[in-house]
Amino acid sequence: MIVRKNISLPPYALVALSTLEEAGFEAWCVGGFVRDGLIGRDAGDVDIASSASWMQVRSLFEAKGFKTFETGIKHGTLTVLIDSATIEITTFRTDGIYTDKRHPDSVTFVNSLEEDLARRDFTINAIAYHPDRGFCDPYGGQDDIAAKVIRAVGDPLLRFSEDALRVLRGVRLASQLGFSIEETTLAGMNAQKGLLREIAVERIGHELNAFVCGEHVGNALLEYVDIIGEVIPELLPMKGFDQKTPYHIFDVLEHTARCMEHTAAILRVRWAALFHDIGKPASFFTDDAGVGHFYGHAKISVELARTIMRRLRLPRTLINDVLPLVEHHDDVLAATPKSVKRMIQKLGGHTDLFFALTELKRGDASAQAPRCYHRIDLAHELDKTLDDILLAEEAFSLKDLAINGKDLMAEGIEPGPLFTELLGDALEAVIDERVANEHDALIAYIQTRL
Ligand code: ATP
Ligand code: MG
Repeated sequence: MIVRKNISLPPYALVALSTLEEAGFEAWCVGGFVRDGLIGRDAGDVDIASSASWMQVRSLFEAKGFKTFETGIKHGTLTVLIDSATIEITTFRTDGIYTDKRHPDSVTFVNSLEEDLARRDFTINAIAYHPDRGFCDPYGGQDDIAAKVIRAVGDPLLRFSEDALRVLRGVRLASQLGFSIEETTLAGMNAQKGLLREIAVERIGHELNAFVCGEHVGNALLEYVDIIGEVIPELLPMKGFDQKTPYHIFDVLEHTARCMEHTAAILRVRWAALFHDIGKPASFFTDDAGVGHFYGHAKISVELARTIMRRLRLPRTLINDVLPLVEHHDDVLAATPKSVKRMIQKLGGHTDLFFALTELKRGDASAQAPRCYHRIDLAHELDKTLDDILLAEEAFSLKDLAINGKDLMAEGIEPGPLFTELLGDALEAVIDERVANEHDALIAYIQTRL
């Protein structure tokens, strides 16, 4: 891999650096932005480390008319808004002990960049960059980027015991970057991974979201399942679970991994892909011919997924999207308007969730035996069917129906539970193409139901 000699900083980062340096402070760009810039990958927010205290940073930038936010002043971090971009500026520091497993109890502010870089988790995250002075890279982070290696800064056992979240950060970086974890670093992770149970669950959820969306999640899941299994032990029975069916060439874990990497990096699709077959080991049996079956596995997967996602305190909106995807991943659908509209109805009328379902189905089929690949084409046809339905503005939920409660009242029907039932019947009739989605036709149909 070619490591770039320079990285380009966005204008707002240059403004931040020069504002600090013109006032006599030292300032560097650090963290994920430098790492991703060197790799040539789209980077997230810019972090700056500087010798200024947060109060000095605040008065400096406020005097120049920039808005500032006290996002982490206990740890020396102030967020500054420049040209509608937010940039975090943190005083050079070392971390204390993490008793609450959430934040270091105390941080000690230090004078040099080198001391600040020493507290960082991995060598690839411990590189600083300044447009005039170039790189400060005391731990060989650039070499590790070139070799695609994730290596702890300092003694892995100690560093992972200070903050076990780093164990999970390492695995999520492997998933995002496709790097491998260096041997002693991995041994340290495995030795300390039990400490992950004490880590604040919100921090874990944040890393897992990044993990599931990683470009290389398939290989990372296969290689580091024992670490992910520390926070989601329900995944472990999938490892090596032989499916004994002609539809599969992989065990359940590898099928899951390949399914994930064949889907777009959409949070709800990736989580659903991780969980879609998690109920298989519990539902497995072989028939007299020795062929494996998993009747009802989707329902068990849903229950496991619900338990896991609630335990991880993932957002309710995410859980509400993931569970129906898991539930219906194996439903047989025909690429006909009727079949597609019925499924959308089951998905609460959410057409975007239907597209998520077809994405999951594509990933699932791509990770099965080649004899199932025709299901990939089917998923594309399902998308096309829905596109046509959307273009024609056809009905698949109550709000699309050409009549509503008011129309029923105009017919002298009393408001009440009967309303929903009648409208539901009318919608089914429209979906089944028994009645046209027109006012008069629907009212005539309703009259026959009374
Ligand atoms: P991302 O691209 O997801 O933002 P990142 O590496 O920048 O990745 P951040 O959480 O933004 O991750 O952290 C910024 C930097 O702070 C990291 O690159 C690393 O140097 C340091 N860091 C973050 N969390 C830890 C931790 N738990 N222990 C040690 N250093 C950490
Ligand atoms: Mg970052």
